[in-house]
Amino acid sequence: MELVIIAISSIEEQIIDAKRELNDLMEYPIQKLCEIIKEVGFECDLCAKCCTSEFNDHVFLLDNEIPHIRGITSDALKPAPYFEFCDNKGTFYVSGYALLTKEDGSCMFLENRRCKIYEDRPMICRLYPYMLHRETDDSGKVDWRQISGLNEHGCYHSEISDEECSKIAVLTKDYEVSYLKHQISFLESVNKHFKEHGLKHVQSIYDRMMRNMKKGDKVRVMVFCNGKFEEHLL
Ligand code: SF4
Repeated sequence: MELVIIAISSIEEQIIDAKRELNDLMEYPIQKLCEIIKEVGFECDLCAKCCTSEFNDHVFLLDNEIPHIRGITSDALKPAPYFEFCDNKGTFYVSGYALLTKEDGSCMFLENRRCKIYEDRPMICRLYPYMLHRETDDSGKVDWRQISGLNEHGCYHSEISDEECSKIAVLTKDYEVSYLKHQISFLESVNKHFKEHGLKHVQSIYDRMMRNMKKGDKVRVMVFCNGKFEEHLL
């Protein structure tokens, strides 16, 4: 019984943290982000590194992007990696979908270092390398991050107009707000689902099921999508 209370309060704590983060994000001055974008002056040199898992782990999709990507092709999605929870019956829960990658780790839409769906690419691909969220750096310091992979790709110190900086900053902030709202909605849905079905997150079962999956066993994964969970056997 005690375990249930701890597990549920842990999700509730995560909800409180995420809402606090959202409030802080809303208050982040857009002008400051504009200035950083201007100062960095990032320019894409078409290296395509950001379209590979080696460089950029995975492309997470927001809810409103799922129907669009499914409309392009039905087999472009996979449950995002790093499942957040596993219930006491061994079912995983993850907050959404990511784009599939090929065996070499490149995005399934990447061909000859070009995006095959460039005009329809997901929002994160449009904004990259800009970001606006708190993250821990190599020394363990948690702070706002505004540029991903600084000095690891592309060109810098290019001239970007004030108008363009402002446009990028607004889009970046909008994206991060949408992402956090998505995460809050996921956490609230898991919390509700667990309460309604008498379930709880159990870390030892999570670890065991992960080991089983790595050995090749099938696992059940519930993927959060537009307010519901979609079931997958992986
Ligand atoms: S959708 Fe296009 S831009 Fe986005 S990661 Fe894939 S290839 Fe790159």
